[in-house]
Amino acid sequence: NKFEQLGLNESLLKAILDLGFENPSEVQEKAIPLLLEKDTDMVALAQTGTGKTAAFGFPLIQKIDADNRNTQALVLSPTRELCLQITNELKNYSKYEKGINVVAVYGGASITEQARDIKRGAQIIVATPGRMQDMINRGLVNIKNIDYCVLDEADEMLNMGFYEDIVSILSDTPDQKSTWLFSATMPQEVARIAKQFMSEPLEITV
Ligand code: AMP
Repeated sequence: NKFEQLGLNESLLKAILDLGFENPSEVQEKAIPLLLEKDTDMVALAQTGTGKTAAFGFPLIQKIDADNRNTQALVLSPTRELCLQITNELKNYSKYEKGINVVAVYGGASITEQARDIKRGAQIIVATPGRMQDMINRGLVNIKNIDYCVLDEADEMLNMGFYEDIVSILSDTPDQKSTWLFSATMPQEVARIAKQFMSEPLEITV
């Protein structure tokens, strides 16, 4: 099992066994050791279906401090369906890691309930940009101290018109966090976000 050679801890390896993943996919093999080794920015060119959720999800779960209830990571993703899917995956990955709470934040559902879930202690928030911006505006969420920000399907988010929201949200996060950007393509708007908000990102392509 090549997952054992990537630097993942026991509780993640156990969860991976339950998921039935036998070997890391290419993006996982490339990204996981780099993201675990040091806190770095990363741009990964990867299509959906390549296993990119685990490529950022495993390192994220391993790096989160479960004893600290503050929000430590924000994952931005284009749609409600993807938010729920990523949240579900992250919960599966962290099933043997006590105390990690993952909360999904997206439009078309009760903002009050989402705010309540965050208030109970969500180390990881998985959000669509529009609802995230709304929650920031209303003072319902604090991302000023996050350590990790993942931009998933960045090209899709920008296609959907979320440029302003993404810029505004990222401007509300600390400079010294690590940003991991995943995108199937690298149009100018994505490159602009990377240039403005990331420093010397490692680049991987699958
Ligand atoms: P993603 O690209 O993250 O949307 O993942 C696509 C699908 O592949 C999901 O259903 C995952 O559960 C599955 N998957 C991810 N990594 C692996 C792996 N290493 N081995 C087998 N299946 C995987």
